[in-house]
Amino acid sequence: MKLLVLTGAGISAESGIPTFRGAQGLWKSFKPEELATPEAFRKNPALVWEWYLWRRSVIAKAQPNEGHLKLVELEKRFGDNFLLITQNVDGLHQKAGSKRLVELHGNIWKVRCLHCRAEYYDYTTEAKDLPLRCMYCGGLIRPGVVWFGESLPEKALELAYKWAYECELFVSIGTSGVVYPAAELPFIAKRHGAKVIEINPEETPISSVADVIIREPASSGINRLTEML
Ligand code: NAD
Ligand code: ZN
Repeated sequence: MKLLVLTGAGISAESGIPTFRGAQGLWKSFKPEELATPEAFRKNPALVWEWYLWRRSVIAKAQPNEGHLKLVELEKRFGDNFLLITQNVDGLHQKAGSKRLVELHGNIWKVRCLHCRAEYYDYTTEAKDLPLRCMYCGGLIRPGVVWFGESLPEKALELAYKWAYECELFVSIGTSGVVYPAAELPFIAKRHGAKVIEINPEETPISSVADVIIREPASSGINRLTEML
């Protein structure tokens, strides 16, 4: 049986990384939709970098939780019949050991130079001089993530659609199901005959197509899922 899993910010909540809806503190008065955009970056790259460095510093302290680890076990069990697609940029799935993984929205530890086009990993979490500059040419660099209004990496998206068409079981974990095109995947899977399972403490648009709904946090929800399979 082909199993496709889609994760969102909710799976990292138990690792102490706030979801967008629950973002706290200093950044409470900013909406992600106002910071995670090409327009915001053009207008004030230093402010956008400051926000990303704050998010990085939260993520740097976080460890994968039981939910991430259980998905690694499922991957081992299903082998080639398993794919994990994440909207998260925190890198916790890799850290947990997931290999059959597609990062649909990029990775917060990657950067891209707008001048020389270099792409590399950068682990800065604190800097006096913002915005960050390219280590090769000194040009302006941007976070290697997909912003609102931008298209997704083509190969990753193709793979996501292919698996949504072909999978027999689609499991959505901790996503609000409002960010497209990821939010479309459970609907595509359902139309192509897959069973859909949702793990989320709250109702989402995905609930309407779910055959089974597990209204629990990710870690205990995935435990329940594992028992069912
Ligand atoms: P979202 O913030 O819109 O929704 C989070 C969802 O998780 C909600 O439906 C909520 O009910 C659910 N949730 C909260 N706690 C949970 C728990 N313990 N277990 C299971 N579910 C729980 O996030 P999204 O749907 O991923 O989409 C928005 C965008 O936010 C994505 O593009 C993503 O890249 C970005 N984002 C990523 C991170 C991260 O990398 N950790 C964090 C915040 C936002
Ligand atoms: Zn450069």
